[in-house]
Amino acid sequence: MGPPVGHKLNQNALDNLSAAWPVFRDVQVAWSWAGMIDVTPNSNPVIGPVAQLAGLTVVTGFSGHGFGTSPAAGQLAAELICNTTPLVNPDPYLFSRFAA
Ligand SMILES: Cc1cc2nc3c(=O)[nH]c(=O)nc-3n(C[C@H](O)[C@H](O)[C@H](O)COP(=O)(O)OP(=O)(O)OC[C@H]3O[C@@H](n4cnc5c(N)ncnc54)[C@H](O)[C@@H]3O)c2cc1C
Repeated sequence: MGPPVGHKLNQNALDNLSAAWPVFRDVQVAWSWAGMIDVTPNSNPVIGPVAQLAGLTVVTGFSGHGFGTSPAAGQLAAELICNTTPLVNPDPYLFSRFAA
């Protein structure tokens, strides 16, 4: 069971669409669905080990950018797992940045 559909948001989108392109003014929404998206408090993904569970490496929280950034994210994750020097500074992506 997902979150409720934002019908008002969908209607706004449809209104904007038909305002920009009148050919769409008679379009009917046939079906709507809402889902969760993985996003962290500062919108940067989590890439790296989780100190509380030895051996666990997490790569998540890409919000709307996980396809485009996946090659670089995968490389950073592999470098951290293999304990080699990362090409980029991993600090902004470490899970530990959220630790109290
Ligand atoms: C509407 C929308 C548009 C987007 N557009 C873009 C875009 O234009 N460009 C871009 O770069 N990114 C875009 N993204 C983001 C991109 O889709 C995600 O960042 C990317 O898919 C994340 O990949 P992932 O492998 O980390 O997670 P997912 O693709 O979410 O994969 C996780 C998988 O784990 C499975 N899973 C979850 N829990 C369990 C469990 N307990 N046991 C077993 N399996 C489990 C899920 O079923 C899923 O298959 C968009 C996302 C959305 C929602």
